[in-house]
Amino acid sequence: MSRPFRAFALLAALSVIVTTYLYIADTINTQTLYTDAENVYATYGISPNSTSNICKFYANPFDSRITDYISEAHPPVKCESRQSSPIALTASGNIVLLNNETKNCQYRPFRHNSGVDDFTVAYGDWMDLNGSTEARLTGDFVDVSCRSQIGIEYFRKQIATIVRRNASIESGSDFVPESDEQLSVILLGFDGLSLSNFIRQLPQSREKMKQMGFIEMEKHAKIADNTFPNWMAMFKGEHTYSYEFNGTVDASDGLTYDSWKDLMWFRYGASSYATLFAEDSPDIAAFNYNGAQHGFADRPPVDHYLRPLYLAWKDHFLRGRSNLFCYDDLPVHKIQLDYVKSFLDAYPNVAKFAFSWLIEVSHDYLNTAGVADKDFADFLTASEKHFNKSIVVVFSDHGNRYDRIRETVVGRLESRLPLLAIRVPDWVKKTKPAYWEALKGNSKVLTSHFDLHATFVHLLKGLSTPPPNLLRGKSLFTPLPANRTCFNAEIPSNFCPCFNEIDLPITEGPQYAQFVLDKVVEIFAEKGYTQKCANMTLAAVKSVSLSIPPKKLALDAGQPSLKTDLLHYRINFEVNPPSKALLEAVVVANRVTGVKTLLGDIERNNRYGNTSHCAGGDQMLKKLCYCI
Ligand SMILES: [Zn+2]
Repeated sequence: MSRPFRAFALLAALSVIVTTYLYIADTINTQTLYTDAENVYATYGISPNSTSNICKFYANPFDSRITDYISEAHPPVKCESRQSSPIALTASGNIVLLNNETKNCQYRPFRHNSGVDDFTVAYGDWMDLNGSTEARLTGDFVDVSCRSQIGIEYFRKQIATIVRRNASIESGSDFVPESDEQLSVILLGFDGLSLSNFIRQLPQSREKMKQMGFIEMEKHAKIADNTFPNWMAMFKGEHTYSYEFNGTVDASDGLTYDSWKDLMWFRYGASSYATLFAEDSPDIAAFNYNGAQHGFADRPPVDHYLRPLYLAWKDHFLRGRSNLFCYDDLPVHKIQLDYVKSFLDAYPNVAKFAFSWLIEVSHDYLNTAGVADKDFADFLTASEKHFNKSIVVVFSDHGNRYDRIRETVVGRLESRLPLLAIRVPDWVKKTKPAYWEALKGNSKVLTSHFDLHATFVHLLKGLSTPPPNLLRGKSLFTPLPANRTCFNAEIPSNFCPCFNEIDLPITEGPQYAQFVLDKVVEIFAEKGYTQKCANMTLAAVKSVSLSIPPKKLALDAGQPSLKTDLLHYRINFEVNPPSKALLEAVVVANRVTGVKTLLGDIERNNRYGNTSHCAGGDQMLKKLCYCI
């Protein structure tokens, strides 16, 4: 360990270790650690703002402590058609009748109710749909109705597709081409999806994203509780609430946001990028939440704004008659992804800023996001050809906020760690290797939505421009320091995911080191390597520490205090020759039963060269086995 404050910390620690250790030995036996978390923090002298060490936490998506709360990836949703469709959408986005003989069909365009509000839509006049003529659409949305001979409506549907615009709604000018300098920015979001839950619920998408070269940001943290303030960090670069940072975003009710021209889609639009914003669940959309916020009333905020489709659905019964997650025969998330896909198709080679946000599949429940997995993976496959001059970001605002997993320390930690994965085109890795190396390095460092904001600003200015020097956040294409703290990353301590580590006396260590070595013996036996690897015995414990969640995580507002008997011990030790391995692991010990388990993998902290040549391709054996 090379902590700069280590010498000082050891001295300071010595003075409190007696107290703290006695506390563990005594108090902890009579009361549950987190039930009385205030006392624990007071005893350890831990400040809720404590950010002096490299940020550490252990977010294992399959942690045994959350087994009861998680489930397998949800299967795809089955949507059943509620009506037989007499119409089809042509490749050019027009409406045709499937059968020339069909009578009594009409269509009418509808659009954003510009100048009125962002809660209703403006319908055009009905027009007849006859014979083989294509109904040419002049806007993105159309309402279709067909009646029987006696006048009963047997088909009704509201449909969205992209009708390409000639000029930017924001700048009034022609769209600019995407280039090596001006990359498109494609944002594909899920509300309330932690990195861990993404790993559990969207395995097919994750696999596809790995093939496509996405980098997962492993220590990306939210900066506020719910959607709006996290979005304001990403898209405006400002705090909404004053925790220990100054909130400057107006979070009052009743506002419209037409004039908030520093929101990222307005900025890209002003530079004549083609823009899209799609967000399902119109009642709880971030700028229209429960009607308290009034959204964009003057005109759509982007060239292609999907909200009118979802609003029009509320005027009719079809959505209500459809299966959960469905609109008639299609999943809602697929309808939205199709809209994004048709945007990518309609603007090839044009610089684009697209922002798709899926709420319904992941907002309420932990284990439903998987309904979108296959469709999302398919969308990525179908869209990949458009991504050669694009930065693609798959992301979330925060982890699950509502489900029972929040009763656990793991769930509370997950809620602080939203998904963020970023894809850079292959050619950028060659022309801007420093950017690529920085992004990879930053995937292991604490990052926040402000860094995403700085990255968007950087991309808008142009790939070759120096990273912007902003008040908050750094472009993810510049290397961030490994010892970045929550404070540096502008993450209020309320939401800081970093655990506090308390050094314990070395004499406390051997029991945990021996437990790890016993596990190594089991691993060798399981893999049939007992005779092939040298025996491993403990030489010396280098350090042992107790890891405690940040105070605000243990005492989550609105949740009962955590009740757990499980303590995390991080152990660092050396093995006797010939191996001389320096091993590190986290052992979870139940203070009541004494039962220990290993959390995650055993890490090897020194080089082992060719000593594990007999291990073949087995990554675990390579780290642990000294071949004899
Ligand atoms: Zn949210």
